[in-house]
Amino acid sequence: MALSGLEIYKLLPKTNCRKCGFPTCLAFALALAKKSTDISKCPYLSDEAKAILESSSQPPIKLVTIGTGDDALAVGNETVLFRHEEKFRNPAGLGLILEDNLSESKLKESVDFINKLQFERVGQKLSASLIAVKNVSGDSDKFSATIKFVIENSKLNLVLMADELKIMHEGIKIAKDRRPLIFPTNEKNILDVAKLAKELSLPLAVSSNNLDLLSEVIKSISELKVEDLILNIKEDKISQNLENLTQIRRLALKRNFRLFGFPVLAVIKKGDLFNDTLSAGALLVKYASIILLEGTTVAQILSLLTLRQNIYSDPQKPLQVEPKIYQIGSPTKRSPLLVTTNFSLTYYTVLSEVEASKISSYILSVDTEGMSVLTAWAAEKFTAEKISQSIKQYDAGNLVEHKIIIIPGYVAVMSADLEEKSGWQVLVGPREASGITGFLKNFN
Ligand code: SF4
Repeated sequence: MALSGLEIYKLLPKTNCRKCGFPTCLAFALALAKKSTDISKCPYLSDEAKAILESSSQPPIKLVTIGTGDDALAVGNETVLFRHEEKFRNPAGLGLILEDNLSESKLKESVDFINKLQFERVGQKLSASLIAVKNVSGDSDKFSATIKFVIENSKLNLVLMADELKIMHEGIKIAKDRRPLIFPTNEKNILDVAKLAKELSLPLAVSSNNLDLLSEVIKSISELKVEDLILNIKEDKISQNLENLTQIRRLALKRNFRLFGFPVLAVIKKGDLFNDTLSAGALLVKYASIILLEGTTVAQILSLLTLRQNIYSDPQKPLQVEPKIYQIGSPTKRSPLLVTTNFSLTYYTVLSEVEASKISSYILSVDTEGMSVLTAWAAEKFTAEKISQSIKQYDAGNLVEHKIIIIPGYVAVMSADLEEKSGWQVLVGPREASGITGFLKNFN
């Protein structure tokens, strides 16, 4: 847990010798608290003070990377309990578990299905991040063959799940270059598997039945110094799981309990689709960094990815699109020109309705710092003056010859003012985007 300037000051020699380049120990302490200098600058720190300061400068929840290259999944490094305190940093990874007893055709079908779980929402690409290969056949060859097939047919990051050490070892040999997450499903092997993970610098999932046992397991492997751990509690009851995950996050952030300073993984066993989705959603919010599903549907994964997108957006910075005039379809000088804000959700809602109308149009997205129509209007970011400036800035007069602009129905009140300021004729559009198609069909 980060220390305050005064807490750091108490650990310093307080001689104000200036060797660190600061005029006083207090100035050095304040700079350390802001992370603008380094403890190595003070040569007189006691070993005890050094150990405390080094430990406090570590992130409370370690950043762990699974996979390699641009598509690697990085989870952890979270610093807050509640999103509004700052933001959640590294979006949780969603993955599907594939058992190694599938027929060749079923395996191909499943991998193809997972690969295609890709969506675009408000300008961002969303997709599943992981395929977990689980040994249920008890057969090392089948496990290895399934891993090989997944490696050859998918770029998604890998999780290897197996009970038996020998079977896990064979799987690791095949997948090690892809930096898979090693997830032994039986904790009796954990020390041996941890040695393998250490030897190959691979991330390791550590599993147990409750928090006390989990901390014991982590303690038992701490001497091996496996750096990248992912924590898992084997718990099917959602209320208990939520409590466990909340305790882990609280202990890591508020009590600086280093044993729990790692991202957490949850497995959702296949049951009722609706309940599974609710459980996964609840754990996404608090505080799973990886969720593995035993099965999924397009609708389920899209709803979870949408929730994840919302949870991991920065609450201080709404998602925005670039302010400019967008051409939808093949607009001409007689095509309609609609105006809206640059809040992503608003823009893409308007866009999808314009596209659905099949009437080529222009959309002028005004810079409202990412606010929606009514919020921006109330905050005076979406005013007649601002729209009028944008019309000029993006040269709308050269794109259309009719000099008619369509404004959202909710801001009809600005019509006269906008006509006066811009010299354009104003048409009041529908209040809701769903009315755009009908409205555009009558534009002429
Ligand atoms: Fe204080 Fe250490 Fe800086 Fe000297 S070098 S002023 S003891 S913090």
